[in-house]
Amino acid sequence: MNKKTIESVNVSGKKCLVRCDFNVPMSGGEITDDTRIRAALPTVKYLMEHGAKVILCSHLGRPKGEFNMKYSLKAVSVRLSELLGKTVIFANDVIGEDAKAKVAALKNGEVLLLENLRFHKEEEANDKEFCRSLSEFCDIYVNDAFGTAHRAHASTAGIVTYGFAPVAVAGFLIAKELECLGGALEDPKRPFVAILGGAKVSDKIGVINNLIDKADTILIGGGMAYTFLSAQGKSIGKSLCETDKISLAKELLEKAKERKVKLLLPVDAKVAKAFPDPIDSDIPFKQVDIDAIGCDDMALDIGDKTAELYGKELRSAGTVVWNGPMGVFENKNFATGTYRIASALAEGKCISIVGGGDSAAAVQQMGLGDKMTHISTGGGASLEYLEGKVLPGIACLNDL
Ligand code: ADP
Ligand code: MG
Repeated sequence: MNKKTIESVNVSGKKCLVRCDFNVPMSGGEITDDTRIRAALPTVKYLMEHGAKVILCSHLGRPKGEFNMKYSLKAVSVRLSELLGKTVIFANDVIGEDAKAKVAALKNGEVLLLENLRFHKEEEANDKEFCRSLSEFCDIYVNDAFGTAHRAHASTAGIVTYGFAPVAVAGFLIAKELECLGGALEDPKRPFVAILGGAKVSDKIGVINNLIDKADTILIGGGMAYTFLSAQGKSIGKSLCETDKISLAKELLEKAKERKVKLLLPVDAKVAKAFPDPIDSDIPFKQVDIDAIGCDDMALDIGDKTAELYGKELRSAGTVVWNGPMGVFENKNFATGTYRIASALAEGKCISIVGGGDSAAAVQQMGLGDKMTHISTGGGASLEYLEGKVLPGIACLNDL
C-alpha cells in the first residue's frame, strides 16, 4: 500500500478526526448488526492507547440534510462504549456549539462521536465552508470508512482536497481493505480465479472488464449468466436477460478468448416457472441441463454440475475474488449454488476475497464468513475498486 497510515504519524495529544463507517442497519432504534462498529475498533483503540484526542464522525442512513432523531448516531455511541469498555462522549450536533465545547474539553485518550454528518446537506454536497468547520476538529485526518471511500463528500475527501487537512492518513480498516483487495488484483497467487454473479451484467461490466486483464479464469453465475448464454445462441426461456447487453456479452466472450482467459458459463440450472414472490416462498423447481431450459422456465440458480465444475476450479486456485451470488440465495431452494461456492472456498487453501453487499451477506448467512481470507466491508466501494477505479477517499490520503 502506498498510503500513510495512523502508524506513520505521531498522534499523541493530537486531535484526530476519524471518518468511520457507522452506517449500521437499525430497527426500532436498535442496532441489528454491529459489524461495522466492530470493524472500527482496531483504529479507535490504537488512537486511544497512543494518547490521541479521538473525534469520530460518520453518516447513518439518508436523513437528506435535516436533523432527524431516527438517524441519530446516539445508539452507536452507546454500543461503541460497550465494545470499548470506556465511555464514548456524544455530541448532539456536528459542527455546532455542543460539538465545539466537547472537542475543546476532550482529554488525551478520550473518544467523542459527532452526530450524523448527513444532518447537514453540505456533507454530500462537499461544501467548502462545511469542510473548513470540520477541520477545526482536526490536527490529523484519518479515513477509516472504506464503505464511503468511493464518494467525494466533505468528510471523506473534501476536507483534504480543499487543503484543510494537510496530514491525512488511512486507518487500519482501509489499510486492510487495500492490502487484501489491492494485493489480490496487483499481485495474485496464481491461478487467479474471479467468480462473478449477481443480477445484472450491466452492474458488473466494469468489474468483468478489469478482471479479464488480470484473471486466469472467470466463472460466471447468477442472473447475468443468461445474457452470456443468450449471446451464445442458447434458449434461456424467461431467465433474466438484458437484450441491450447481448452484443457486449459477445465482445467480452471474444476478449476472454483473445486473452486466453478461461471463461466458464453454467452447464445446468435450477429453474422455476416464475420468480418467487414473496422472495422466500417455497415454489416448485427442477434441475435441467443448460440446453434444456424450456420457453417458460426461469433459471434462478446454477445446477449441481455447474457447482461441481466451478468448485474444482476454486479448489485449485491461488487467489479467488468473488463478487455476486450464484442464484437467488434469498430463497432456500435457490441458495445451494452460492452455498457450494462458499463451501469450496472455505475448504480450499486459496486466498479468498469476497466483495459486494449481497455476496458478503450470503457468505455470513451461511456461517462461512470466518473461513474467508477477507470479506470487504464496502459494497459499492469494493465494486468500484474491483473495477479499477480511483476511490476519492483513498486517493486524497498522504502518499508514503
Ligand atoms: P452484490 O451485492 O454482491 O454485488 P448483486 O447486487 O449484483 O450482488 O446481486 C445480488 C442479487 O442477484 C440477489 O438479490 C440475487 O437474488 C440476484 N440474483 C442472483 N441470481 C439470479 C438469477 N438467476 N435471477 C435473478 N436474480 C438473481
Ligand atoms: Mg447488491
